[in-house]
Amino acid sequence: MTIRNYIVIHHTAAEEKNARQVKQYHLSKGWKDVGYNYIIEKEGVVVPGRSLEIPGAHTKAGGMNYKSIGIALIGNFELRRPTEQQLHSLLDLTAKLQRTYDIPKENVLLHRAVPGANTLCPGKFFPAKELSLQLIEPTKLWRVQLGAFTTKTGAADYATRLRHIGIDAFVIEK
Ligand SMILES: [Zn+2]
Repeated sequence: MTIRNYIVIHHTAAEEKNARQVKQYHLSKGWKDVGYNYIIEKEGVVVPGRSLEIPGAHTKAGGMNYKSIGIALIGNFELRRPTEQQLHSLLDLTAKLQRTYDIPKENVLLHRAVPGANTLCPGKFFPAKELSLQLIEPTKLWRVQLGAFTTKTGAADYATRLRHIGIDAFVIEK
């Protein structure tokens, strides 16, 4: 299983029409899929890219292709700011991924902040400060497992017995 404990943020440094065009460009270079794991189009649409089952192709530095999730926003942010919709989607997606993969906020990096990366990516107009102020810290949930049953009635009986002694138990299917 691949463990992704970082998020790396990029711009595509071009003004592609959509995620499809980014993918076509990467395929034309002989890659097996688009290099990024997610692409955010100018209108804020989030398009899933390369599967997390295989290494990414977006950040060689620090071995990040193996341990991060690469998100690219379409545009050249050396020349302009990302759109508000893009930033909004980026925050949403980042928070969701942080919760799913338990990624602390200090591991959400701009490409240029990855040690060893020699790039301006995601560009000087990318609002780095704004983003860092709005990042979340994922909350961990700790659960207590009490029992697992092959029949629902077995589980229900057990839950009832626990409730009788004042333990708030309920049945979930998994
Ligand atoms: Zn980059």
